[in-house]
Amino acid sequence: MSWDLQAELAELDASHLRRRLRVMREGERFLNFASNDYLGLSQDAVVCSKLSVGAVRYGAGAGASRLVTGTLEPHEALEQALANFKQTEAALTFGSGYAAALGAITSLVGEGDTVIMDKLSHASLIDAVRLSGAKLRVFPHNHLGRLESLLRHCTAASRRVLVVTESVFSMDGDTAPLVEIVALKEQYGAWLLVDEAHAIGVLGPQGRGWAAELGVAERVDVHLGTLSKALGLAGGYIAAKREVIDLLINRARSFIYTTAPPPMIAHAALTALEILAGEEGDALRDRLHGHIRALRRGLGAALEAPLTAIHPHIVGDEAQALSLAEKLRELGFVIPAIRYPTVPRGSARLRITLSALHKEKHVQQLIDILAETSGTKEG
Ligand code: PMP
Repeated sequence: MSWDLQAELAELDASHLRRRLRVMREGERFLNFASNDYLGLSQDAVVCSKLSVGAVRYGAGAGASRLVTGTLEPHEALEQALANFKQTEAALTFGSGYAAALGAITSLVGEGDTVIMDKLSHASLIDAVRLSGAKLRVFPHNHLGRLESLLRHCTAASRRVLVVTESVFSMDGDTAPLVEIVALKEQYGAWLLVDEAHAIGVLGPQGRGWAAELGVAERVDVHLGTLSKALGLAGGYIAAKREVIDLLINRARSFIYTTAPPPMIAHAALTALEILAGEEGDALRDRLHGHIRALRRGLGAALEAPLTAIHPHIVGDEAQALSLAEKLRELGFVIPAIRYPTVPRGSARLRITLSALHKEKHVQQLIDILAETSGTKEG
């Protein structure tokens, strides 16, 4: 038996993979190019005031799980609003996007089933499949040929086959070919779950996501999203047919065995969603897209749509990525290095995210610094 945890930590240190928490202190000034607050709604005065109004009206916490006494009016109103927004029959909220992934996948598939997943899918989706007991088959990133051969192979031998992908990939900012994926899953009778965590608020009409932009949203069986990125708060949701939601209410352990999210969050999320889907949201998206175009132009990257808010500045080596992040930090820019195991070894990067809160001059400053430090333009 060995409980030498110091040795384990030392190993992480030696391979430049040790992580440490960094406190963002009040009063400290820096430019944040690392948050997923794409529209700046976490700082929106109206959203923030709804939190305090919600706390006064409903209390600080729900006090019980949703199936006991924890379902309050804001939860119900938010779920109805999310279903309207996603144009599905129903929606269900969870404490986080991570919990939504666990709940949905473990409720829909289990032993004897197969999940076919894009290689770059988020850890929450991978963990969910492991927990479900379904067989996990992975296809190379966005590789439709391999997806099809897995579908052909698995549909004969499995009770259910669920295809899982993100729509905007969280570490690369590229998008999934959902039109083709939808056609394939229909051809083979599989279901499709799409994680739109990074697309909501950024892409599609009213910020409804990448599937909506491509016109295939109603053919996606299970939509997963979070309240914690463009909506600026915390929480996750599944939007789908009524029968899917009813099954989750009965089966999803990450929904059933946990205290309901504070109703004040649902109350504020309702307002955040109204802003995101309305004219103000369109204006914020225009601003965000302007920043994305400027950054791509400045770094010599491809300008064509889709304009996702994530730009990977690939460095490769873990130590070099760390030192570039440190240098940027000294200059007042927060852009942490993303390393293995979040991304494959040797593909360490600065994951730059843009927000409508940024100013043009900040984006330009970042471009200038990156051009100076890397010396070359990106292809
Ligand atoms: N899916 C993706 C693609 C994500 O990037 C994240 C968050 N990093 C999640 C799900 C989890 O969402 P949450 O932060 O709300 O738990």
